[in-house]
Amino acid sequence: MSFCVALDGPAAAGKGTIGRELARRFGFAHLDTGLLYRAVGARMLDGMDPVEAARALRRDDLDRDDLRSAAVAQAASKVAAIADVRAALVDFQRAFARRAGGAVLDGRDIGTVICPDAEVKLFVTATDAVRAERRYLELAAAGHDVTRRSVMEDLRQRDRRDSERSTAPLKPAGDAVVLDTSDLSIEAAVARAVDLVMQRYTG
Ligand code: C5P
Repeated sequence: MSFCVALDGPAAAGKGTIGRELARRFGFAHLDTGLLYRAVGARMLDGMDPVEAARALRRDDLDRDDLRSAAVAQAASKVAAIADVRAALVDFQRAFARRAGGAVLDGRDIGTVICPDAEVKLFVTATDAVRAERRYLELAAAGHDVTRRSVMEDLRQRDRRDSERSTAPLKPAGDAVVLDTSDLSIEAAVARAVDLVMQRYTG
């Protein structure tokens, strides 16, 4: 039986942590779809045409260790605005969403484009300041050379690009539950998401 949880929202709102936790608790597979766009962005920075890179994307492209860098994040949001890049990645994501045993996908267009019939749709958000602080602490702890100001600038630019693009812009699906994590601990945010899935999941 398939069961799809669609988790969308701007960068650093908490989707990744919530997605991993939901997957662990319910035994679902988890796909961080941002990694697909980051992998294509990284190939573009290597000099490859982004549409070709998206069409030729392989499993091990997702294991590159530079995918979390600020340069790759910016490149990802640029390639993500190209309709042919998005089209090349749709089938893989849809198949993942409907795999047996359930799946959680986090991204920007899961509830609107990839899995519009998802059993649970959550739009996870938080204020700019909260998201920037969280991402700064995460990147600094991982040894990246970042400042609070550079992280805020990166998030704002990407959010703007992601919201304003014409193909699959970042926006909540009409039937998504909005979860604002600005004033929530990660445990509280996860607990709300778990409650929501529990209401619908009978597997
Ligand atoms: O989620 P993450 O920050 O890793 O995503 C990197 C970029 O990939 C985003 O800024 C966005 O432009 C793009 N993306 C997207 N659609 C998705 C997931 C990510 O356009 N489903």
